Amino acid sequence: MAEVYEILDLAKEYGFSKVVEMAVSSVQLNPEVRAMCATNKCKMYDTNWACPPGCGTLAECEAKVAKYKHGILIQTTGELEDSFDFEGMEEIKEKHDLNLKNFVEKLYSLEIDMMPLGDGCCQICKDCTYPDGECRFPKKAFSSMEAFGILVSDFCKSNQVEYYYGPNTLTYVGCVLFN
Ligand code: SF4
Repeated sequence: MAEVYEILDLAKEYGFSKVVEMAVSSVQLNPEVRAMCATNKCKMYDTNWACPPGCGTLAECEAKVAKYKHGILIQTTGELEDSFDFEGMEEIKEKHDLNLKNFVEKLYSLEIDMMPLGDGCCQICKDCTYPDGECRFPKKAFSSMEAFGILVSDFCKSNQVEYYYGPNTLTYVGCVLFN
């Protein structure tokens, strides 16, 4: 079992702008958020084992969350030139995804019993096996916060962490649950 301070210290080496301990009870799964996934604005719904419906029902996701005792909340915040700086938005997302990917790989190598939740769908394989074959890397693949039905702004608030850091900033949020 990993100590919370060890995971916090390790996470701080991976480029996140904020890393704090969180309460697992703050992970509230909201059917309305899951319903937003089903509108398929991202065009990834029903295409990947880490996205709905492949990642399981909300009850199944809840059961996965319930396996863990501890968690850390992580954020990557960046600045934009203006509210139309779509390139800047993409750069912040790429930075957050890379920070989380590298951090998760380290935890995986340390054999930590964990479940990360990030942003966007799993991109480990060029072509996901969904829905015909089993996931190639079930221990490495992870879902997004939204796929689990988490309303990120509420999640941050529950953990006394800001989500909005002022005009022309953008923040991506994730978490890692662990034992
Ligand atoms: S690891 Fe590969 S097969 Fe599994 S969810 Fe990710 S992309 Fe799909």
